Amino acid sequence: MSITPLMPVYPRCNVRPVRGEGCYLFGERGERYLDFAAGIAVNLLGHGHPHLVRAIQEQAATLMHVSNLYGSPQGESLAQRLVDNTFADTVFFTNSGAEALECAIKTARRYHYANGNPQRHKLITFSNAFHGRTLGTISATDQPKMRDGFEPLLPGFQVVTFNDLEAALAAVDDCTAGFLLEPIQGEGGILPATPEFLKGLRQACDEQGLILIFDEVQCGVARTGTLFAYEQYGVTPDIMAIAKGIGGGFPLGACLATEEAAKGMVIGTHGSTYGGNPLAMAAGNAVLDVILVPEFMEHVQRMSERLRASLEQMIPNHDELFDSVRGMGLMLGLKLKSDSRAFVAHLRDRHGLLTVAAGDNVVRLLPPLVIGENHIAECIEKLSAGAKDYEVPVS
Ligand SMILES: *Cc1c(COP(=O)(O)O)cnc(C)c1O
Repeated sequence: MSITPLMPVYPRCNVRPVRGEGCYLFGERGERYLDFAAGIAVNLLGHGHPHLVRAIQEQAATLMHVSNLYGSPQGESLAQRLVDNTFADTVFFTNSGAEALECAIKTARRYHYANGNPQRHKLITFSNAFHGRTLGTISATDQPKMRDGFEPLLPGFQVVTFNDLEAALAAVDDCTAGFLLEPIQGEGGILPATPEFLKGLRQACDEQGLILIFDEVQCGVARTGTLFAYEQYGVTPDIMAIAKGIGGGFPLGACLATEEAAKGMVIGTHGSTYGGNPLAMAAGNAVLDVILVPEFMEHVQRMSERLRASLEQMIPNHDELFDSVRGMGLMLGLKLKSDSRAFVAHLRDRHGLLTVAAGDNVVRLLPPLVIGENHIAECIEKLSAGAKDYEVPVS
């Protein structure tokens, strides 16, 4: 038998973390890594944050799981806080981002069904998008590496070019339910939507009774310096999927919606055994305890300005390799002039810096939001040193 016990779907590297402390990860042999990957935008508070750890420990000892057949004081409190701090009136909790998107897609379809327009089932989605790995969410992307061999996929999605408002509006027909997109594409290469694009989609939704769904699984939860990225655009969705950062490392996602958009989601239409369990709610509440303090958001903004300025300053010194910086807040992409995967591996193996490769030759910098100036200086040092002793692989 040659297959590994862990199904071999990931190209796992030789870093084998066994412990985390703040912004650092430690491998089996004690090697230390500066973690600017943060579990792909998950570990908002770094590793081992005392408030999050204590909340999980205490809740685990008190009550870990009960069925959604019972009332949920823990869920009510987290849902209320999300409602108080966003556009939303109601929240469904999930265990992952893809599940949050599944709920968002179902909510949009069900809205039109409840309105007597069941033919309006089609979501317009965008090139380069990533929404997860379930059959529903891979149906919403056009990337062959995620779709090949899994057909037939879910009907009812039409992919048009990201940031092309005209193409999006032209795709609307009698069967359209709405639009689904990431305000800032993550896996696709840290590509922010243009404000005109989001405003145009919002306007079309208002005029034609369509639903605007934002996928803020990666860009949400303070990552960009506001609680959610949509705030900076001044464009409000009807439905929003979140996950990653909201649990700070504990598996937690949520689908947020306005009362109007959620009108079809009545008793019996959706569910999840684990979704909203007390342990996950404790983790989410603990993360919000930390990030809803105004000084925390100011810290994120200050650190993101510092990181961005430092990166911009560094680029001209290595302009054979580095092209530009893009993104928002602490969701930054360093665009290279060649493929980013080999450089990400070089930074990791030779310089102890963890980053994440993304589409379009981008190195993603997604540090814990609790980084300090010392971590930024160390990151820049490692990037510069890495650029110096890096040999661009001949392809
Ligand atoms: C990670 C991600 C998802 C999927 O989340 P999972 O928890 O892996 O299911 C969906 N959308 C975006 C934008 C993501 O970054």
